[in-house]
Amino acid sequence: EEKERVYNFSAGPAMLPREVLETAAKEMLSFRGSGMSFMECSHRGAEFKALYAELQERTRRVLKIPDNYSVLFCAGGATHQFAYIPLNLCGPEDVIDVVQTGNWSKKFAEEAGRYCKINIASKSSDFIPAVETWKLTEGAKFIYFCDNETIHGVEFPEVPKVPEDRILIADMSSNLFSRPVDISKFGLLYACAQKNFGPAGCTLVIVRNDLIVGGPKQADKCPIVGGYELLKKKDSAYNTPPTYNMYIINLVLKWIEETIGGLDKMAEINAKKADLLYKYIDESEHWSGIAKPEFRSRMNIPFRCTHDDMQAKFLEYCKPRGLITLKGYRTMVGSFRASIYNAMPLRGVEKLVEAMKDFERDMKF
Ligand code: PLP
Repeated sequence: EEKERVYNFSAGPAMLPREVLETAAKEMLSFRGSGMSFMECSHRGAEFKALYAELQERTRRVLKIPDNYSVLFCAGGATHQFAYIPLNLCGPEDVIDVVQTGNWSKKFAEEAGRYCKINIASKSSDFIPAVETWKLTEGAKFIYFCDNETIHGVEFPEVPKVPEDRILIADMSSNLFSRPVDISKFGLLYACAQKNFGPAGCTLVIVRNDLIVGGPKQADKCPIVGGYELLKKKDSAYNTPPTYNMYIINLVLKWIEETIGGLDKMAEINAKKADLLYKYIDESEHWSGIAKPEFRSRMNIPFRCTHDDMQAKFLEYCKPRGLITLKGYRTMVGSFRASIYNAMPLRGVEKLVEAMKDFERDMKF
């Protein structure tokens, strides 16, 4: 068992790999012999430049990002991109078709709709409707979707096959780096770091160069600090960027590459963890899942106890076992949610299943 540490099932900020935290602690007073913490290094200095180059290369290598894409590390959350995406890629009359499969795609539509036109092409919450049923707008360039809806635990099983003249934009905040992804199928994809690859406050944006060359179409409206063309030119450092976040992200990606063995391996481990929990939820008559089985997320697993009012009791039951933050999202009253991102060890999921079994026995269900 892990000494001192708990198994934190939070939807984010989430657990980080133990090895990453240990390295960060070791380097806290002096980063690579500089006599400074990386936190104290100038974003115009040699230490940052070297680390940024390493981070760029590593990100491209791990995700196999084609050369015609830019990799930007933006300050702020995924939420900031709800505005920056239309401000950078659309004119006010352009339409984005949004496939609304949960809260996060809904929130995108609300914000982006202030800067361009939004058409809700479909609406669902516990499954993903077939592409053929989406009501796409003629002449719209972009189709937007959230690859993994963190709250309802609904994940696209594969990249949707859309008409060739459409360009995909995807929010991968809660599943980027959890499995391989074919970047070439997207115009833009992005993810905040605090679930699978780092601390909150830094968002990775991967965007096809031809979509940003020539500058933002709404340059007059887009805040300078969020312009993709400028961020690309300035190596993500137009202003002072979240340098320490980038440092931790680099360590997490190094862990994925060297300790885990890359994204294929990461995906295998993640599938194993999710299968274990779903299998038990399906097997036992005392628990039930929420999303339709074909669209179940491997990252966020919401579930219910079929005996009423067990939420507080089960959460208390889990705490002394070091299993924390299992409460379901606030609007899903009485439910549970286990977020099992990259850094959640298999042992954590095994312990959760053991707790569910023991709870049934002790409650005499
Ligand atoms: N998109 C998804 C899928 C999320 O899970 C989150 C979670 O917080 C966000 C967007 C918003 O990210 P942030 O809080 O970093 O703005």
